[in-house]
Amino acid sequence: MITFVGAGPGDPELLTIKGKREIDSADVIIYAGSLVNPDVLRDAKPSAEIHNSAHMNLDEVIDVMGKAVSDGKKVVRVHTGDPSIYGAIREQMDRLKQLGIESEVIPGVSSFLAAASVLKKEYTLPSKSQTVIITRMEGRTPVPPKEKLIDLARHNASMVIFLSISFIDELSDTLKKAGYRNDTPVAVVYKATWPDQKILIGTLDDIAGKVKAEGIDRTALTVVGDFLGDEYELSKLYDKNFTTGFRKGTGE
Ligand code: SAH
Repeated sequence: MITFVGAGPGDPELLTIKGKREIDSADVIIYAGSLVNPDVLRDAKPSAEIHNSAHMNLDEVIDVMGKAVSDGKKVVRVHTGDPSIYGAIREQMDRLKQLGIESEVIPGVSSFLAAASVLKKEYTLPSKSQTVIITRMEGRTPVPPKEKLIDLARHNASMVIFLSISFIDELSDTLKKAGYRNDTPVAVVYKATWPDQKILIGTLDDIAGKVKAEGIDRTALTVVGDFLGDEYELSKLYDKNFTTGFRKGTGE
C-alpha cells in the first residue's frame, strides 16, 4: 500500500490529522521538495528514509516505492496542496497498480482554497459568480485545444490560474480580449500561508506591473473576477424571507 498525502499549501498546521498521522508513522517518505514545506515532515520518525522527488523521474519514484513495499516498509508520498490538482498522481497510481501495489489518497487543502482564505473572499459570491474555473496557461506543456484560456475566460466566472505567473502579461491580455473589463479585480497570492506569503491586489490593467516589481515568478496563483470586489447580493441561504429544508422563512 502506498499512501498519497496532500500536504496543504504551506502552513504545517493545515495538514489533515489523518495525513499527519501517516507522515509521522512512515518508514519511507517521498515528497515534492520544490513545493512542499519541509516543516510538514518535522515529526517524521528519525529513522525515516526521506526522498525529494524534485530530483527524481517517474521511474525512480516508482522504483523507490516498489522496493520499500517489498521490504515491508510503510511508504508515504507527499504532494503539495491536494494531489488531485496538478499533482501527477494518476500516473503513479496506475504504475503501482501494474506492479500489484494498491494506493490510497488522503486529501489536502489546495492552494486555491488557501488563497481564498488569506484574501478573505468567497469565489461563489451571489450575483457575481457561481462557478470557479481552475486552469493554467499553456506553457511548455500544452492544454487540450478546447481549454484555451481565451475560451474559458469568456464566461467571466471566478478564475484561479495555476502555474502561470511567469506569463502574467499574456495572461492579463488574454483575459481582457476574452471580455473581462480592464478594471476587473485580480489578486496574485505568492506562497499562501507560508511565512513569506505576499498578496498583490490590482486590476487586469496593472497586475502584471505589480508582479514584476515584486519579482514574483513562481509559487503563485492568479485569481480573477468580481468576487474580489465589494458588490454582491445577500445569499438566499440565510435570507429571512426564504425557507430552506432546515429553516422556515419568517417573511410574508
Ligand atoms: N496540488 C497543488 C498544486 C500543484 S501545481 C495544490 O493543490 O495547490 C503548483 C502550482 O500551485 C504553483 O505553480 C502555484 O501556482 C500553485 N501553488 C502551490 N502552492 C501554493 C501556495 N502556497 N501559494 C500560491 N500558489 C501555490
